[in-house]
Amino acid sequence: MMAGYLLARAGVPVAVLEKHADFNRDFRGDTIHPSTLELMYELGLLDEFLKQPHQELRELRAVVNGQVVPVADFRKLPTRCKFIAFMPQWDFLNFLSNHAKRFPTFQLHMETEVIDLLMEDSRVTGVRATTRSGELEIRADLVIGADGRHSTVHTRARFKLSEFGVPIDVLWMRISKKQDDPKQTLGFFRHGKLVVLLDRDDYWQCGFVIPKGQFDEIKARGLAQFQNDIVSFAGFLRGRVSELDDWSKIKLLTVQVNRLTNWCCEGLLCIGDSAHAMSPAGGVGINLAIQDAVATANLLAEKLQRGPVHIGDLRTVQARREWPTRLIQGMQIFIHRRVVTGRMSGETKTSLPFVFRLLKWFPILRQLPARFIGLGPRPEHVRSPSAA
Ligand SMILES: Cc1cc2nc3c(=O)[nH]c(=O)nc-3n(C[C@H](O)[C@H](O)[C@H](O)COP(=O)(O)OP(=O)(O)OC[C@H]3O[C@@H](n4cnc5c(N)ncnc54)[C@H](O)[C@@H]3O)c2cc1C
Repeated sequence: MMAGYLLARAGVPVAVLEKHADFNRDFRGDTIHPSTLELMYELGLLDEFLKQPHQELRELRAVVNGQVVPVADFRKLPTRCKFIAFMPQWDFLNFLSNHAKRFPTFQLHMETEVIDLLMEDSRVTGVRATTRSGELEIRADLVIGADGRHSTVHTRARFKLSEFGVPIDVLWMRISKKQDDPKQTLGFFRHGKLVVLLDRDDYWQCGFVIPKGQFDEIKARGLAQFQNDIVSFAGFLRGRVSELDDWSKIKLLTVQVNRLTNWCCEGLLCIGDSAHAMSPAGGVGINLAIQDAVATANLLAEKLQRGPVHIGDLRTVQARREWPTRLIQGMQIFIHRRVVTGRMSGETKTSLPFVFRLLKWFPILRQLPARFIGLGPRPEHVRSPSAA
């Protein structure tokens, strides 16, 4: 959507295809980071954006083995917004698409699912899609595969994908919220287990991190035990966990971290999770996908105004975005292996892993995770032209 917005803003004719009828799905993250808020400012959208319902988090805290630890302090970031905005991703996408629709060259086709690529002489020339009224072929100078971690586009292009083993999965569910509940934290860590609560205004979106493949075992222990497990992390949810009275209310999300070797071929470029699936660790995937979109528009918009772009142009996008992606994925893999499930998860009931002790003792260190999470390596700025 962001790539579509920016290209249409530059006067390039764009069709964004979305297979669902709306953007309302639970299993999306909610974090809009300072780097993305800065882009909103550069696009002149920030004031209106901040009028949408959201929560602002200036300091990120975690509860580690029962102790509250400040992890990241965003208040010193060199950005206009020194906080993470928590906004359900469907609100964000509706906001962006409503603005994109104001550009005459922008089209959004909902309920239009890409099922295949159109090829001519080994160049991708468009897509085949299904709609409610039958199949459709759409031709394009460039197809941008931004269809997420189960990407049809990269599969149909037969792009080579490297999978980096992830030892965790996430159970995803809703629990109601009360006014006097504690404020949003990074999560509740204890001995290799983690519960994340996302504040969705009138309910908590709860992510319970489990070792990969253990859902059946957890189910076999029964719902009552699972409810107790949640309460053992976040005691204030006692009395509400009974809302989880059926396993159908608890969804298993398989976490992946992977990356394409080549993000492009003639006529096709993959970005976001389609090029590099991100884990929820650090809550950075949305923002990284947006950075890819901004780099794509910066490097290609002017050329696309004139017609098709060459493979060399597409490679410059990958070259620009690959190392920040590698760095963040490396950090996510480290967090999975060491902080969530491994040695740094703490030995005794109350002990704090060394990294968290450092963050507690030296407040200045909290600016490092703030920069890494809030801005990320190589933050992009809007350089693509505005036709208006
Ligand atoms: C459990 C979980 C929690 C997460 N929490 C966070 C978080 O809090 N913060 C964060 O920054 N990141 C989070 N992430 C990572 C984040 O969700 C992704 O990195 C990010 O959504 C990637 O954006 P994207 O636009 O590339 O793909 P997506 O957000 O997956 O968007 C792809 C879109 O393409 C559509 N689509 C798919 N296939 C087709 C098709 N064939 N035809 C047409 N449309 C199609 C989909 O419906 C979807 O709308 C989380 C990930 C997981 C698994």
